[in-house]
Amino acid sequence: MTYDIIMIGAGVAGLAAASELQSQGKKVLVIDKGRGVGGRMATRRVGPLRMDHGAQFITLRDSRFESKIAPLLTSGELFPWSHGFPLWRDGSISPRPDGHPRFALRSGMSALPKFLAQGLEILLGDAATAVSREGVDEWQVELAGGARHCAKTLLINMPPAQLLPLVGDFLDVETRQKISVIEMDPTWVVFGEVDQDPDFGGVALEFEGHPVLRFIARDHTRRSPGHSPALVVHCHERWSRENLEATATTVVSIVSQELERLFQVRFKSEPEVHRWKFATPLTSLGELCLWSPELRLGACGDWCAGGRVEGAVLSGWELAKKALCTPLL
Ligand SMILES: Cc1cc2nc3c(=O)[nH]c(=O)nc-3n(C[C@H](O)[C@H](O)[C@H](O)COP(=O)(O)OP(=O)(O)OC[C@H]3O[C@@H](n4cnc5c(N)ncnc54)[C@H](O)[C@@H]3O)c2cc1C
Repeated sequence: MTYDIIMIGAGVAGLAAASELQSQGKKVLVIDKGRGVGGRMATRRVGPLRMDHGAQFITLRDSRFESKIAPLLTSGELFPWSHGFPLWRDGSISPRPDGHPRFALRSGMSALPKFLAQGLEILLGDAATAVSREGVDEWQVELAGGARHCAKTLLINMPPAQLLPLVGDFLDVETRQKISVIEMDPTWVVFGEVDQDPDFGGVALEFEGHPVLRFIARDHTRRSPGHSPALVVHCHERWSRENLEATATTVVSIVSQELERLFQVRFKSEPEVHRWKFATPLTSLGELCLWSPELRLGACGDWCAGGRVEGAVLSGWELAKKALCTPLL
């Protein structure tokens, strides 16, 4: 089957673009290697709990973004979680409200990408391994599972280090160079139920100057009342980079020791651990998306526009707009 558009990557950027394009009558296929949609907006079941081990909150600065997800606000699924997190520095914690709302989702952050994915044709659990051009106006995408799909337009929503091996050969030298200098920090995340609820003076705590820790969320404060205390611990990006190849056991052991030493808190059982190799971009492209009208090839993602969920969505919408404005679609 030939589609108008194939989007590789069902992160929020890819989903935002795909749903906009489909709403304008285009036949769109979204492909993602993950088991679910959302990429780094991720929620995992941990026993009876649902815990957010990727993005922790979203901002709603853009009015179009706010109106798109208004149904989630109206239903109470999306709610203002915090107005600024306290800061840990040299062993003491100080409050730091800035009045700016950070929103979370009651059933987990993955509820947002699931909302954006409604009505889309999405192929999950299969990675795009190669792309090629057939004639002047068709892209072919090969998947690890052996399937092939064709489209007139190919859009990519993947971090730069994954995008370049797939489509780098089709890009001009200047574009390749612009993408290849964008680095992304890794983040180790350890999360699970704990034996007591630490008193941070807020729903989460940011760290400055700690060698291992960067952020701890009291995850249960995002759920309906009555959930037992559970923490999501983000390791510092420098520590995560230096310990990228450490074993999960080592990371859990170091994080557990720090939690006990600083807050006398222990995980109730062996916590979950996740390594995000490409967690947050250090720099961004400085353009909302990449689009080649000649090739009908484009890319979107947080690395184009500010490294956050909201920026990723705006990047996806900009790419959809560019693709729709180019004739022959
Ligand atoms: C630990 C952590 C904490 C964060 N905290 C926040 C926060 O509090 N607030 C905030 O706004 N942002 C936060 N972020 C950043 C936020 O998660 C991202 O900016 C946003 O989710 C990026 O979306 P995206 O669509 O650009 O990319 P992604 O979510 O990375 O989506 C890319 C998709 O491409 C898929 N893919 C990759 N390769 C292939 C392939 N070969 N074939 C098929 N599919 C492929 C992946 O499976 C993935 O689903 C955090 C990120 C991390 C990791």
